[in-house]
Amino acid sequence: MTISATVDRWNPNPYVLSKAARIINAGGLVAFPTETVYGLGADALNPEAVSKIFTAKGRPQDNPLILHVWRITQAYQVVEFNDAAERLMNVFWPGPLTIVLPAKDIVPSITRGGLPTAAVRMPDNVTALTLIYMCDNPLAAPSANISGKPSPTDADTVYKEMNGKIDMIVDGGSVTLGIESTVIDMTDPSQPLMLRPGGMPREVIEKELGMKLEVPDNVTAKRSPGTHYRHYAPSVPVIIWKKGKKLPPDCAYMGIDTPEGVDRKKAIIFDSLGNYARGLFSGFRKFENDNVSCIAVQWPEYEYGLSEGLRDRILRSAGLV
Ligand code: AMP
Ligand code: MG
Repeated sequence: MTISATVDRWNPNPYVLSKAARIINAGGLVAFPTETVYGLGADALNPEAVSKIFTAKGRPQDNPLILHVWRITQAYQVVEFNDAAERLMNVFWPGPLTIVLPAKDIVPSITRGGLPTAAVRMPDNVTALTLIYMCDNPLAAPSANISGKPSPTDADTVYKEMNGKIDMIVDGGSVTLGIESTVIDMTDPSQPLMLRPGGMPREVIEKELGMKLEVPDNVTAKRSPGTHYRHYAPSVPVIIWKKGKKLPPDCAYMGIDTPEGVDRKKAIIFDSLGNYARGLFSGFRKFENDNVSCIAVQWPEYEYGLSEGLRDRILRSAGLV
């Protein structure tokens, strides 16, 4: 049985969070909101607890987890710092930026997917930060969905997919960002790498570093094993729609522009790129439940901000990378 408890996102009930923390400290699994998507949390330093995450999600064992911290000094416990990485933490945390650094021995191999590095992040969500604060250790927390499916952006979706597989869900309402964190590798600060585009735009990270983020070639891509698995995919085929093109017949549609001849009953039109990012995964799930035969999604034409992350999720959900 999975218990579920609702909290106010800005003023989360400390009794609910201390119960969640007790479960986590005892080696259990608790789903909780972050600003990006709902996470499935366990004590990152407890290998038995972390192995339950892989089982509950059906996640491949070589796909490492992000360690979530409530303050920068907690990250000291688990990774080796360098000046540039610390500067990024000071500027962008809490926020959707995950930083990969050399792991300290305290981090179990299963949390790191057997790699010599570990990924750390401080989520920008009061409920998440308070929960991590109440726990003994950083929380390993991938998205709270079955591996390969779209990430959950609200607690009901987590419940439908994870009921009976995890101990508790903390319901803190819908997430604010809706797309996962940007993951960068700062192991070698003279060669920062973009491992996964996401909620923190590339250009602001590059500005702070004074350097370009290189996209790793196929060899170094193995350093972020998660990126080669099928991801974010609804059970219905996803097709990319570009402005000015014809919409494939019978497809549901999501995007910012309104294609000619679109069936409004099977369309979600967003008024901004931010709302598009926030609504993409929940839209996939809605259309999946509606039994549509395909989902057309607009290709983001912008060259800044959330576009890179959104394009990545769209390509992956369409099975094109
Ligand atoms: P998820 O939490 O499932 O959204 O994904 C976490 C992402 O971070 C995946 O793409 C992982 O491959 C990546 N990641 C986590 N830890 C590491 C690490 N030590 N080195 C490289 N990539 C990592
Ligand atoms: Mg995920």
